[in-house]
This record gives sequence, C-alpha cells and structure tokens, in this order.
Amino acid sequence: VTAAPHWDDLWLNVNLATMDASATQPYGIVEDGALATHKGRIAWLGPKKDLPAGARATRSHDAHGAWLTPGLIDCHTHLVYGGSRANEFEARLDGASYESIAQAGGGIRATVRATRLASDEALTFRATERLADLIAEGVTTIEIKSGYGLDLATELRMLEVARQLGLRYPVTVMTTLLAAHAVPEEFTNRADDYIDLVCNEIIPRADALKLADAVDAFCEHIAFTPTQVERVFRTARAHGLAVKLHADQLSDLGGAALAARFGALSADHLEYTSERGVAAMAASGTVAVLLPGAFYFLRESRLPPIDGFRARSVPMAIATDCNPGSSPCTSLLLILNMACTLFRLTPAEALAGVTRHAARALGLATRVGQLRVGLDADLALWDVEHPRELCYAIGANPLIASVHAGALRERDILRQASAKRVDSRELIGRLQL
Ligand SMILES: [Zn+2]
Repeated sequence: VTAAPHWDDLWLNVNLATMDASATQPYGIVEDGALATHKGRIAWLGPKKDLPAGARATRSHDAHGAWLTPGLIDCHTHLVYGGSRANEFEARLDGASYESIAQAGGGIRATVRATRLASDEALTFRATERLADLIAEGVTTIEIKSGYGLDLATELRMLEVARQLGLRYPVTVMTTLLAAHAVPEEFTNRADDYIDLVCNEIIPRADALKLADAVDAFCEHIAFTPTQVERVFRTARAHGLAVKLHADQLSDLGGAALAARFGALSADHLEYTSERGVAAMAASGTVAVLLPGAFYFLRESRLPPIDGFRARSVPMAIATDCNPGSSPCTSLLLILNMACTLFRLTPAEALAGVTRHAARALGLATRVGQLRVGLDADLALWDVEHPRELCYAIGANPLIASVHAGALRERDILRQASAKRVDSRELIGRLQL
C-alpha cells in the first residue's frame, strides 16, 4: 500500500500551460488542474480530478482560475554593465552618424570604459534594478554575459557580480564568459594578441574560479574572425566549458555552422544565417536564439530564417539581449510580443522560446523550462484567460506570483493578487533570500 502523498505546496483551481515537449497540443494545456511541489521540485501535476486520494500538502493555494506556466527564462543578456548609452541614442536621432559617435569614443568602447571604472557595488546596484524588472515578469532563470571588461580583472569582476545576483535573489543565474566580444582599445589592430590573452589567461582563470558556465564570442567583421573564434572555442572545450556564439547578426561569416561544428548550445541573432548554417544547426542540435529587441532597436530589416528553422525543427529560443547599445530592454513579455509581430512566431512558439527552448540554450533542459514531475519547481502564475495573452498584450504585466526552486516565500503576494502589477522593488523585497 502506498501512503497518500504529503507535499510542501499544492496549487488548486489552476490552469496549467506545461510547455511539455511531449504534449500533443502546443501549450500543453491542462484545464482545472493541480500542481504539487516538494523539496524544490515538481512532485505531481494533472487534472484536479486525478489527484491521488488522500493527498495533502503543508500549504494549499487557491489560484482562482489563474494560469501556471514554467518560470520564464531569459537566455541571452548582458545585464551587468556600467553607464548608459541614452546619449548616443539621442545623438543619432539628432543626426549624428555611427562613425562620428565612434570617433568621439562612443559605442561599445564607452560601455567598456564605464564598466571598468564602476565599482562592484555600482555594477551590482544597476544590474539589480534591471533584474528586478525581469523577476517581476516571472523570470526565474537568466543568463548573464561578461564582455564589457575586455581585460582579465574586469571580465572576472562582471562574472562575480552576476554570480552574486544568483545568490541574493530568487533566480537561477547562468554566467557566460564573453571576453571575445570586441577588440579592446589597447589592442587596436592586434586582435590576435587579444585572443592570446583570452585563451591563455582569461578563460583559464574564469574556469579555475568556476565563474563561467559557458564561453561566448562575437563572430563578425567588426569583432572576431571565424579563425579567432575557433581558437576561443578550442580553449573553452579544453576546459570542459560549453560554447555559444553571436553569429550572423550583420553579415554571413558562417557563424552558425561554426557554432554547430563545436556542438554549441546555441547560436544567437542569426539574421544572415544561410541554409547551410540552418542545416548544420539542425544536425548538431544547436538552439537558435532570436533577439527581436536588437532587431527592433537597430531597425534591421533582414529577418532570421525562421521558416528554415521550422522546416528542420531547429528549436527557437528568444531573449531580451538586454544591453546598453542595441537592446536596452528589461521586459521579456515585450520580447514575446516582438517575436510574434516582428518575426511572425506563433504565440505558442514564442512561449516555448522563453521556456523549454531557452532552457536547452543554457544546457538546463533536464532542470527547468517545462512543468514536469521531477523538474525544478520554478513557476509563474498569471492573471490571464489563456497563455496566448502573454504574447498579445503590450505593456501589461499580468504576473500574480512566481516560485523559484519551490520557494513561494510570501503567501501575501497571492492574497494581493488582485493588485495585478506587483511593484518590482516590492517583489524583490518580499522574495529576497
Ligand atoms: Zn548579445
């Protein structure tokens, strides 16, 4: 005889969008469902009528017909940086050219200078504000890249700040070393020498300190050649680190195929990816991370090969690409809408792009991104009639509450569910560990 289960938390009167890969319909919908969590994992889910007889929980939550989805995953961000580029945004709208801004010390180099000068506290404070916006929208996992230090000390500092965010706030942080983001000023015309530094010092130190979960690079004519990226990838692989790539954003240098050749977790941007690149990604299982925020902000017109990805079943993730230069965006819900309006993803595809496919882009597919028994209890509860509304609305935030690793720290948040917009700072305050 099996004893009736006794769980930590039980959600009732709830509709589920499981985003389960094995579901027969797009969202994996279970209406009038129930979901139980225990010791930080999802312990049971299904139609309420199928709940095991005698099942009990320490805490029961009446969701009043709201919808539970997996906690959202922002799988590509540059969240930690110093300064702002609002001045450049304005200057360009006042007619300044990209070249004149670059000559005046603007662009990525301005962010590198500001980041090098910023204290750990300042970097942490600004990143926390941005993170609060995302957590307030149900984000429970985020990737954060370095790449505005471009020297050993600052690259490590950025990763350390990112790691600390994950320890202080209810969000899983995956860190990515992006030292090969741009050629730093002091290495002008000496990109190969900088790649030496990246491969001989920065990657080994970041790995020794366990500060990086993956290594990324920017393969583009304004950044690094495929040959230079290969050196970075070989070094990363020698250290047992997963790789990712900013690929084919502004031109087709074969970045997607290069990433696929190294078994990259993801290739990101991909506006100029060729059919060959799509096929290579399909063969290697590399996730296509699409970044409509940068596409929008830079007023690009060339679309990523969405139909090609669909035809070859390449999983598509979407992310904010939060960064000061090309996507100063801290709303993953807005990105859901942009993915549909700009890239013509269906709402179900877009939602999969911030749940199970985003999980896979971070190597976390067995832990998060779906509502399935055994996965982490990372949940977002929404005041919507159907999950498609998360992609439809512009500027709304129907989040009622979120759960990270099983911890719903304040039932008050649920009691206050009628106040749909939970102020982000208040949420941070309530959920802070
Ligand atoms: Zn990026």
